[in-house]
Amino acid sequence: MQEAAQAILDFNGLGLSLIEISHRSKDFVAVMEEARSLTKSLLGLPDRFDVLFLQGGASLGFLTSAYNFMPEGGSAAYVDSGTWAANAIKEAGRLGQAHVIGSSKETNYDRIPELSAVPAGSAYLHYTTNNTIFGTQFQSIPQVDMPLVADMSSDIFSKTFDPAPYQLIYAGAQKNMGPAGTVMYAFDRDAAGKTGRSIPSYLDLEVHAKKDSMFNTPAVFAIYVTMLTMRWMQSIGGVATMEKRNNQKAGLIYNEIDRNALFEGHAQVESRSKMNATFRLKDEKFAAAFDELWKSAGINGLKGHRSVGGYRASMYNALPVESVQVLVDVMQELERTH
Ligand SMILES: *Cc1c(COP(=O)(O)O)cnc(C)c1O
Repeated sequence: MQEAAQAILDFNGLGLSLIEISHRSKDFVAVMEEARSLTKSLLGLPDRFDVLFLQGGASLGFLTSAYNFMPEGGSAAYVDSGTWAANAIKEAGRLGQAHVIGSSKETNYDRIPELSAVPAGSAYLHYTTNNTIFGTQFQSIPQVDMPLVADMSSDIFSKTFDPAPYQLIYAGAQKNMGPAGTVMYAFDRDAAGKTGRSIPSYLDLEVHAKKDSMFNTPAVFAIYVTMLTMRWMQSIGGVATMEKRNNQKAGLIYNEIDRNALFEGHAQVESRSKMNATFRLKDEKFAAAFDELWKSAGINGLKGHRSVGGYRASMYNALPVESVQVLVDVMQELERTH
């Protein structure tokens, strides 16, 4: 953040701010290129992938993914594992048939659903790797006989994975990469452009790739900070190091949720997310005391999403292990005093 603040005042010693130089200046083009190449190297993406930093968030990605990979008059398979997944299904439905092959809606998305067979003719399987609001996460890559499209907004760079089955990965920056304002797309350039449909220019991933992610003015600050975050990740050992830290954090909090008689988890144990832990008090009468304890410990934003209630501890890459320990200490303090 200090480096980003400095770049706002004077970028690269140019006597100009990052947010006033031209996005086509060589200093900013270098930022964009470094962000694109760091994404590829940190994720271990093979050559067939092009990386872009666009706008519209993951919410536009729901539409963009279908525009670029669902054939005209065709269909694709979708997993309904949470709010964002359901939004993706809704957007894809504007362009063709989105077959839902698994849903956990009936149990308020407390688990990753079982998947049924993928209907013949589906162009891809779309899924949401981590369900931010409900605190569930796919524990492994779905084993299906077709390319995968994944919204990785809330667990990108949190653990290593095999990119081989993917055609498209997209992720809004604001959870694990940098500030809001940009969304990363990594897509297979050989698989794109085969839908037979006319794609509006801004939604056409090939249009952006041909312009090296500079088709129009990019979100310069969000991309710059994302690039700094990736430099930092690389300097401490890359995604494997993040994964180790995230395993430690998740181990701490879930161990306490299971051990402490005052609390229970929302997500089923076998579907638990390492990024967002959802839990509640078994007895609401301790809520005021607990809220007082965590607030005075300096914890912020622990309230659960309104569709789940209770609490949600978001433990994105930027959160140190010690912060999770503070929460565990507070939960133990509540137990001691109540
Ligand atoms: C936050 C989130 C989104 C929404 O992202 P926007 O950039 O706000 O559109 C989509 N999918 C997942 C998994 C998210 O966590």
